[in-house]
Amino acid sequence: MARQKLQRCLSCGSHGLSTTCPDCGESAQAAAPMKWSPEDPQAARRRQRQDVGSEQWLESLPKAIVNTDSEEE
Ligand SMILES: [Zn+2]
Repeated sequence: MARQKLQRCLSCGSHGLSTTCPDCGESAQAAAPMKWSPEDPQAARRRQRQDVGSEQWLESLPKAIVNTDSEEE
């Protein structure tokens, strides 16, 4: 994986490309993006919080649009 080029100062939070801050001269560290994974490690906890499988959860789901006005013949 490519090394991160964008550095962020540890003391003033200023961004730059060098490991020394352009503003205050303190040391800067790679500004890492938020960790992201296609696999949701919190999925089980989220399902538990939303009470997935319960009647209440079922009611909260978006419904398919059913045309009840016209009767099929
Ligand atoms: Zn700085």
